[in-house]
Amino acid sequence: MSVPITETLARPATTARGWAAASPTVPLAPYSFERRPLGPFDVRIEILHCGVCHSDLHTVRNEWSQTFGQTLYPCVPGHEIVGRVAEIGSAVEDFAVGDRAGVGCLVDSCRECDACAEELEQYCEGEAGPIGTYSSVEPQTGRPTAGGYSSQIVVDEHFALRISERVDLAATAPLLCAGITVFSPLRHHGVGPGSRVGVVGLGGLGHMAVKLASAMGAEVTLFTTSPGKTADASALGADSVVVVSREAPAAGGDLDLVIDTVSASHDLDPYLGALKRDGALVLVGIPAVPHPSPGVAPLLGRRSLTGSSIGGLAETQEMLDFCAEHGVVAEIEPIAIDQINEAYERMLAGDVRFRFVIDMSTLRTP
Ligand SMILES: [Zn+2]
Ligand SMILES: [Zn+2]
Repeated sequence: MSVPITETLARPATTARGWAAASPTVPLAPYSFERRPLGPFDVRIEILHCGVCHSDLHTVRNEWSQTFGQTLYPCVPGHEIVGRVAEIGSAVEDFAVGDRAGVGCLVDSCRECDACAEELEQYCEGEAGPIGTYSSVEPQTGRPTAGGYSSQIVVDEHFALRISERVDLAATAPLLCAGITVFSPLRHHGVGPGSRVGVVGLGGLGHMAVKLASAMGAEVTLFTTSPGKTADASALGADSVVVVSREAPAAGGDLDLVIDTVSASHDLDPYLGALKRDGALVLVGIPAVPHPSPGVAPLLGRRSLTGSSIGGLAETQEMLDFCAEHGVVAEIEPIAIDQINEAYERMLAGDVRFRFVIDMSTLRTP
């Protein structure tokens, strides 16, 4: 079938309204910018909700420059994006106008390297590496990518996710980063019925790890420094809770896997020691100051210390489908866009149950 000539002509760029940080030291403020013209494989998504991730705050304040490079300003953060398709390019196959759709932490990759060939775009080995949803360089325009604290986003359909009409859309947003960050290591390490999984920390990532591991059929132990989180942990699906400020995790333990979500520097040895032989401790929190190096003794049980970074597009879709099937969503506190700076301060103080999600309709009605 030939493509009508009008379809091959470039479409105009569109203006998005959003909130951005102009520098590391100023609060976020309203900001208008251009989204690239829709290409043949692109979808334009009207953004309805966007989760607020710790990465947003660290990136806005340029606190991860040692790990991920300097932040590009103005910085429009947000990579837990859900909404509806507003427009599609002439060659788009998997989306129609009006469909629910999401965008997570990635908007592009080289599509040619070994990692991309294995659908592990998050580990892309191409020259530019994986292209982040914000504060990366957009290959199509050479401008900084801009995230979900905005009215709309243009993305290649390969990097858009399908979202069931049956799920709570706002509570699904945090699955796009927090959810996949813990789902991927749970799957990679073969968690299923009968597995024993430990989760360290009960924040945005930790509460998703408890819910997902439990939904996979694992027996879940939560490690926390806050005695006040015991009831929450049980309600989310944890079978037992260890308050580590009162008792150390049992050494020579029986856990197959521990997912450590804490982003403050801490001693890893107790969690390595809580694993059984051949178990793995997976670090997914990113502390600004490195953890102290672990002792060798707990590793002698052939235990592994490893990490994990989000997930590829196929696995992210698998996670969304799994969550729709099992009724898993995040626990959220909705906010208006003009509450974002206050939300950052509350997040730093640990005062959120368990993820802020911005209602983007508040962007349209100032
Ligand atoms: Zn994130
Ligand atoms: Zn690649």
